Amino acid sequence: MEVDGFILVSREDACQRSISRNSSHDSFLPEIDKSVDGLGPWLLPLNQFIHDNPELAFREHQAHDVLTRFMRSQDGWNVVSSAYGMETAWVAKFDSGKAGPVVSFNVEMDALDGLGHACGHNLIAMASLAAGLATAEMVRRHSLPGKVLVLGTPGEEGVGGGKIRLLEAGAYDGVDISLISHPGILNNSPLVRTTAFARLEVEYFGRAAHAANSPWLGINALDALVIAYNAVSVLRQQTMATDVIGLSITNGGGPTNVIHPFAAGICVLRTASSSRLKELQEKVSACFRAGADATGARVEIKVTRGYADHVPNRVLAALYTKCWNALPNVPDPPIPPTGELTWVKASTDQGNLSYAMPSVNASFAIPPGPQKGQPHSPDFEKASGTKLAFDRALRVGKSLAGAAVQVLAEPGLLDQIKDQWRRDMDALKQPLLE
Ligand SMILES: [Zn+2]
Ligand SMILES: [Zn+2]
Repeated sequence: MEVDGFILVSREDACQRSISRNSSHDSFLPEIDKSVDGLGPWLLPLNQFIHDNPELAFREHQAHDVLTRFMRSQDGWNVVSSAYGMETAWVAKFDSGKAGPVVSFNVEMDALDGLGHACGHNLIAMASLAAGLATAEMVRRHSLPGKVLVLGTPGEEGVGGGKIRLLEAGAYDGVDISLISHPGILNNSPLVRTTAFARLEVEYFGRAAHAANSPWLGINALDALVIAYNAVSVLRQQTMATDVIGLSITNGGGPTNVIHPFAAGICVLRTASSSRLKELQEKVSACFRAGADATGARVEIKVTRGYADHVPNRVLAALYTKCWNALPNVPDPPIPPTGELTWVKASTDQGNLSYAMPSVNASFAIPPGPQKGQPHSPDFEKASGTKLAFDRALRVGKSLAGAAVQVLAEPGLLDQIKDQWRRDMDALKQPLLE
């Protein structure tokens, strides 16, 4: 299947067959349902506390403290505070003592400057906590093999990339799958694609000269930037529908009677995949160099790598969907038909994890506020603090746990998940424009 140049090999039919063949494992879901309901009264005050005490990226000290304290109070969990050199990162591990898959859930904790929990990360935390605890409970009751990890992942907002730092520090070594969710108001979907992005800062260095007396002695840096701006504008006609190029001039030269010796701009690129990002970055850089060539100015381009696009694992997504639909009172909107991707034009560091291991980043819809505000609006901050939103997060936790427990309980399922991941990674390496 090809979607806007992104190729995913669909194995949905195969995974559906495999999942329904092993229907004996469906018996876990009613137990998971009850187990998470039992956790509700303990999780609700935690949810409220985190929501009402918003903390910025890498400063999630109160959330770190209440969550690690809570995990330490749970039987059988080994908890490490301030893990991997980050004060607000933490890891809680439950080990069955038997070799088997290692499943993990990420807990985001950070809020937005001036907007509080307008991205609903308190709900992400609750869904992952509920999922991790219920999965461990099933491991204990049914003597399942493997390990369950819950990771406190700081600094998702901006380009903090807490998960990238954890990945590079080895926090996911030996981990087989990574599960997380994100609230919004539009979609219920485990097949979520997010965008890859990068930020390019461009600077032109020319030579000042008197603009009336001897302009021929100068090199006009602003001219270089204007040529580049126009070249990018022309490029936009041949970009893909999923490409976004934002460009602004941050330094437009000095007084008009001087040939401008310096000019600068910032460009932000968003694309459907990391390989497309590389292509687009090369094209935009060529536009920047064209400005320099035409004027004789020197150009410097500084690239800040943003987050990778998120590549959802179809086998894991099918497990999640099956649980979501089997739980009572399925909320609207329904999960889209088999195989249909949900595109979210935002970026997340879970995207980088999806390039390291099979991942699901399930979108879930909470009841909107009065203005139907999307994430990063004051309206969504209110919506993410309601009991109804909390209940929806618990349903997500149940579905994530249902998927994870099946991975632990069904021999061979992890191989299918990893085969799918390898096919997705191979497909992403193919050139897009041939
Ligand atoms: Zn956000
Ligand atoms: Zn968010």
